[in-house]
Amino acid sequence: MTVHVVRMPVKEVHSHGSGDVSAINSVLLELTTESGITGWGEASPWPAFTGIVEASAAALHVHLRDLVIGADPVKVEVVMTQVERQLVGNPEAKSALECALLDVTGQICGFSISELLGGQQRAVIPLSFSVANRDFARDIDCVQSLWDDGIRLFKVKAGFDAHSFDLMRLTKLRSLYGDEIQLRVDYNQGLPAVDAVRRIRDLESFALDFVEQPVQRHEVSVMADIAHAVAVPIMADESVFTPFDALHGATIRMADIYSLKINKSGGMRRSHEIAAIARAAGIDIYGGCMFETSIAHAAGTHMLAALPGLRLGCEFYMSSYYAEADLAETEFPVKNGFVHVPTGPGLGIRPARDKLERYRCEMLK
Ligand SMILES: [Mg+2]
Repeated sequence: MTVHVVRMPVKEVHSHGSGDVSAINSVLLELTTESGITGWGEASPWPAFTGIVEASAAALHVHLRDLVIGADPVKVEVVMTQVERQLVGNPEAKSALECALLDVTGQICGFSISELLGGQQRAVIPLSFSVANRDFARDIDCVQSLWDDGIRLFKVKAGFDAHSFDLMRLTKLRSLYGDEIQLRVDYNQGLPAVDAVRRIRDLESFALDFVEQPVQRHEVSVMADIAHAVAVPIMADESVFTPFDALHGATIRMADIYSLKINKSGGMRRSHEIAAIARAAGIDIYGGCMFETSIAHAAGTHMLAALPGLRLGCEFYMSSYYAEADLAETEFPVKNGFVHVPTGPGLGIRPARDKLERYRCEMLK
């Protein structure tokens, strides 16, 4: 069991309602069985959202090490239940461990992770890019080059500057690309509760697919009031980490859509539990991610590929369009605006050793 702490620079600083991001800080977990099979997983915390990279590294290296060594990697749920009993929080570390176990299991039996999770419902998923540069002129250039690559879904990160700035960007994008562009807005908790309904109503003429996490994560009843008051669908992200959050959210009809992220929910299986609650409640789902390398992107892709009813796409754009480099041996597959579900046993993707060494800041064995 080896823990690699990596820091991957990004091409442009991105701004969000809850903070700026200038690098992807991740923990890659390398699990090797006695028979020599190696599985990989990634913990990708964001301090403003889930946690810190030092905590993920310590959770794996210090707290979970004894539990993992000697465990049967095929008994994924058995191991993860024990992990959850011993360690509160730390969903990113749990997600990395579950992924590495599933990667090993898949290689043992010759199935991809999405096959282990019930089978692929789809081979490709539409890709969304996040428009989040304070310098909108640079974003306009970026959107055009992505448009040329076939991307049609764009999520505008809002609420980190004036309301008029958000309206101006949406107006510009709609006028440049007409009805063909699918626009979404993510506030990352950035709207004041008292002003949220009024501001979101200002956005309704842009025919958005959804408005994401307008208010603070704990303001779940406020978000329910907003969802009931406005016509545009409201998506919960920071307010839904666990199946328990999802159940409470469904009870009060907090949102119309849940954003699924393996790194906030502690893995693919818990994400599927959230998706099951959403399906039972008539709540839609979406494929979100943290600031990640292609290893976590591949894991998220398998999780989504095995779910029925994914309509709104995913946002695994970072290794192709945001990070300085793709950490994987074979590039994370994005073509013509779609993520292609990795094929081959297990995760179907692994870090390249030379890139891992280049971007690694610490290794714990
Ligand atoms: Mg979000």
